[in-house]
Amino acid sequence: MDVFKLFIHDTTWPFILEIMVRSCVMYILILLFLRISGKRGIRQLSIFELAIILCLGSAAGDPMFTEDLPIVQAFLVIFTILLLYRFTTWSMMKNQKIEELLEGKPLYIVEEGKLVIDDVAKEKFSHDEFFAEMRQYNIEHLGQVRAALLETDGSLSVLFYTAETAKWGLPIFPKAYVKVEQFHPYTFYACMFCGCTQIYEQIQGQRCPRCNHTSWAQAIRDAYWSL
Ligand SMILES: [Zn+2]
Repeated sequence: MDVFKLFIHDTTWPFILEIMVRSCVMYILILLFLRISGKRGIRQLSIFELAIILCLGSAAGDPMFTEDLPIVQAFLVIFTILLLYRFTTWSMMKNQKIEELLEGKPLYIVEEGKLVIDDVAKEKFSHDEFFAEMRQYNIEHLGQVRAALLETDGSLSVLFYTAETAKWGLPIFPKAYVKVEQFHPYTFYACMFCGCTQIYEQIQGQRCPRCNHTSWAQAIRDAYWSL
């Protein structure tokens, strides 16, 4: 392998200078684009915004170092993307169907302290991913949660029970989310699949009455309340 060709090849000093100028121009163009698009930040991107950013990345990157690519062509690409972006956001505002098609719908994943099993079964989300997200809200178990909604940008919205109204719930921290081997009388257990809680005496044949799974973790009720 020719190391010189790999790193330098036919890069001349004037072209180095040109790359720097090109990069500055594209940088300013992208800043302007993001400013005009009205987007505030990129912490959470919906699918369609991600598509825009990917198109933009290529349109901005290539002209920085491609000698025979005039900047005006890149500008046209960026301008077209901007028009598309504006048109898409406008049609999403006008038409609910288009919005759902492009951004998806918010999804209930917890209702009244239990996971919404239809969606778990369809694998629209995974336990791990979602528990990790919930732990960041200082949630120790599902009995604390009245409702949790997965927003279209991937963020989570949570409504809590008060300390008084919290139910028995499925623990979501790893050390407590373990399958029990031995059951004890008068003790609450939570189905590890759907979060349904039952006292030992109600559990027949170790099957969950709600989802039919047979893995149970010891349920928790008390929790540290930071709210
Ligand atoms: Zn269950």
